[in-house]
Amino acid sequence: MSNAGQPGKPHNSAHGSGEDIPAALRDTPDAAPQRGLRVIFLIAAGILGFVLIAGLSGFIFSLTASRQAKEGETKSQVNPDQTPVENTDNTTQALLGHLPYPEAPESDLVPIPGHPRLRLRRAAAEKFHLMVQDARRSGVNIVPISAFRSEQEQKQLFFGVGAQRNQTPAQRAALSAPPGYSEHHTGYAVDIGDGNTPATNLSENFEKTKAFAWMSQNAAKYGFELSFPRDNQQGVSYEPWHWRFVGDRDSLETFYKARNIKPKQQ
Ligand SMILES: [Zn+2]
Repeated sequence: MSNAGQPGKPHNSAHGSGEDIPAALRDTPDAAPQRGLRVIFLIAAGILGFVLIAGLSGFIFSLTASRQAKEGETKSQVNPDQTPVENTDNTTQALLGHLPYPEAPESDLVPIPGHPRLRLRRAAAEKFHLMVQDARRSGVNIVPISAFRSEQEQKQLFFGVGAQRNQTPAQRAALSAPPGYSEHHTGYAVDIGDGNTPATNLSENFEKTKAFAWMSQNAAKYGFELSFPRDNQQGVSYEPWHWRFVGDRDSLETFYKARNIKPKQQ
């Protein structure tokens, strides 16, 4: 507003004498321009209000749209009623119950000591070796059966073996992940057996071995956990032999980021 008027000039208003009116208004030259300015002010405020409301609703719309576009996002989203709802659809990317995983970079894959053909990511291999050594001191014989697998190898396991056994993809997926969807691609997953009872290899009976009992008690100390316990929320069949490394940031993000866990209510 203008400050160019004559200070102190009285004008007609309900406030009576000009001295009662705030300085900013008192500075207004006379009543007629003041009305004009009020009208302009009201129009400007109206336009500003409209722009704000339009902008805000556009922002909310784009926010909602971008949230809905994000696959695997497990945060709450805004529904048409503006009521936050829990998005439990964390299996958007799943294929027959299995989640997609990238192949480990070749440069980070190292053999498990004593097993030149079985490779894990460096951090996982080191902790796995330490774990096996500690178990051995307790008289438990943990042996790795399978570790890193490429998509090509998984392709043979899924389609090749599936064809030999006359299994449909759904039947096959209960036992093996489709190529591109195996935790073994990450270089963090390892199938283990009990060296003293090889007959239990890759069978549910492995859960009755000393190796499984020892792992259940101690694996977390080395950053390993069972990927598919009984009745896991991913719906994959129980695999007591299949363990994954979650002991560093990259492995944790690989298995947990934005999926595979339920959002926590506050
Ligand atoms: Zn496995």
